[in-house]
Amino acid sequence: MTGFESIVMVDWSARSKPSPARPVRDAIWIAVHEGGETRVSYHRTRAAARDALVTHFDRALDAGRRVLAGFDFPFGYPRGFARAVTGRADPLALWAELAERVEDAPDNANNRFGVAAQLNRLFPGTGPFWGCPRDHETPDLPARGSDRAGHGLPERRQVEQRLRRAQPVWKLYTTGSVGSQVLLGLPMLQAMRRRYGDALAVSPFEPADGARIVLAEIYPSLLAEEIATQAVEDEIPDAAQVRVTARTLAGLEPGTLETMLAEGDAEEGWILGVGQEDALRAAATPAPAPPPLRDDCFAMPAGVDWTPVEDALARLRDRLHPVVGREDCAVSDSPGRVLAAPVTARRAHPPQANSAVDGYGFAHDALPPGDPVLPLVPGRAAAGVPLGKPVPAGQAVRILTGAPLPEGVDTVVLEEDVNDSGGCIAFRAGIRAGANTRPAGEDVEDGARILDAGRRVTPADAALAAATGVGSLPVRARLQVAVLSTGDELAEPGTEVAPSRIHDANRPMLGGLVRRFGYGLQDMGRVPDDRDALRARLDAAADVAHVILTSGGASAGDEDHVSALLNESGAMAEWRIAIKPGRPLALGLWRGVPVFGLPGNPVAAMVCTLVFARPAMGVLAGEGWRVPQGVELPAGFEKRKKPGRREFLRARVRAGRVEVFPSEGSGRVSGLSWAEGLVELGDGAATITPGDPVRYIPFEAFY
Ligand code: AMP
Ligand code: MG
Repeated sequence: MTGFESIVMVDWSARSKPSPARPVRDAIWIAVHEGGETRVSYHRTRAAARDALVTHFDRALDAGRRVLAGFDFPFGYPRGFARAVTGRADPLALWAELAERVEDAPDNANNRFGVAAQLNRLFPGTGPFWGCPRDHETPDLPARGSDRAGHGLPERRQVEQRLRRAQPVWKLYTTGSVGSQVLLGLPMLQAMRRRYGDALAVSPFEPADGARIVLAEIYPSLLAEEIATQAVEDEIPDAAQVRVTARTLAGLEPGTLETMLAEGDAEEGWILGVGQEDALRAAATPAPAPPPLRDDCFAMPAGVDWTPVEDALARLRDRLHPVVGREDCAVSDSPGRVLAAPVTARRAHPPQANSAVDGYGFAHDALPPGDPVLPLVPGRAAAGVPLGKPVPAGQAVRILTGAPLPEGVDTVVLEEDVNDSGGCIAFRAGIRAGANTRPAGEDVEDGARILDAGRRVTPADAALAAATGVGSLPVRARLQVAVLSTGDELAEPGTEVAPSRIHDANRPMLGGLVRRFGYGLQDMGRVPDDRDALRARLDAAADVAHVILTSGGASAGDEDHVSALLNESGAMAEWRIAIKPGRPLALGLWRGVPVFGLPGNPVAAMVCTLVFARPAMGVLAGEGWRVPQGVELPAGFEKRKKPGRREFLRARVRAGRVEVFPSEGSGRVSGLSWAEGLVELGDGAATITPGDPVRYIPFEAFY
């Protein structure tokens, strides 16, 4: 929880030409960490990078996300420089001045050496800037640092005294220099300041709290070791730097980050995190991932035939645990997400006592006996626009709904109950003290627990969080579910095929269910009945998903390759559950990722998904075990049922009675579509006649 839902880290570049099309180092790299994920992008020119940043900032602001944007170049110069150039020791005045002087074309052509020479002329002697290609060398801009003398400025900023490896800002050219990046970076940041106005603050020069976009200076080398160990194979170092830095800052405690942003030198600026390196390093070490599932989590005791539904469910409930980590989510994006921790109110609701109606406010104590006539004070109190002065005892004030009660007001009379004339109001005696007001904290007290861990955030929950001052919520990363169909007979929906083949109906259905459950869908397509192809596809699914749903090939026949492969991998169990419709379920782990091998038959696939996979995925997603809420309703059908299996019938409610689909044929997809829920008939024998109560579970109860 950092208080920033979007963390952007930029590796800037002072190249004078566009970088090559194929990504290279020493170019512009931007990492964006949002919703628990970090994405890195490569930009060939400063203009392209600036456009990408503006697009990102605009989107984040629209979505209510607060942005921290870090740039890997100094935000200020050593003490004395800003005053010498602008007449004021104000670093932001210097930004504006540089923005005036620097020209930076869309193709990266720029005048930075000329500007450096101009600036050097403001100082006695030679310098402070130095370093340039031969053809830019002038008496005002020496090629060598040792040719400088008498300019009178410090070589390093305070913060750079502490980081001996950091290069001074005066050096503009050759390896490791940062000076040109500053000259070409600050004008870009100045453009951002102008564009976003008060919504943007520059750390540490301006207070960060309240700003929607905060800019900060970063120095990825602070995390050199962590970056080196966390870089992935073939990753360009610049990409690794911004990626790891973004993820690290996202892992800081909110208080720590706010302190870091406030710390530093008001003239020279500061590198975010210098002075708090320990906290930074601690955050750089990734949070431990949830433990993997145990290999035997789906094991069934030997010799058990036809496990009752309740036992199967109890097994899933007890053997599984959450497999997704946590992240922050802006309140506006939170509906549908699963809370990873309880949420408490950050302020009372309402924060202040206010009026519940449009009317007139006064102190109840000071009412005269009989029907009151009170003089009105000038002005009025409205929502968001307080009166700003006390109301004297014995007087009244015009007040509107939602307006904080001014000092001296504890009661409000409805405007409809008042005669208003000549600067006075008159109304009937007998109004109750405190009438028509809402006390502070009446709804929720500051610090009260408002939402529990494991809860799937509803739109109303988002309203409650927002109303109590909460801007982002600790949520579970979204469970990613891979869906895969198997079978030689299957063809893609809508394609022309031989009559011997059928169209894949399960994948659109299962994909739709996954989305309804609020999870991320990874559509893994169809695989023929071929073991190598299936193995490769399961590998691919395990790379992108926390759980895999397959349909078809889950029994023990010749072409049942899902169960065969899971068997091979050693972590498979065939669950023969006493359920109709249903076939054996193949449950197993594929490279540690749980696989639900569902029956191919669409009716059985859907019922088994709702009854077994749904609650199991709820546990994996951090929602805990969910029991769908059914209702008892009179049957509108007749049915005799034998003991030994639990039955689910495709059903819907009409005129207060439960209808079931006339055919129980398990190949009847039309019945699935007809149905709006399921009737659940217990394991024992039953004879149902119309009017008997039956348990109806609407499909919504599973979502
Ligand atoms: P299986 O479980 O592979 O033996 O398949 C059982 C029945 O379901 C067969 O009639 C299959 O053709 C059918 N089936 C399997 N997968 C699908 C699918 N994705 N869409 C529609 N029907 C399927
Ligand atoms: Mg098959």
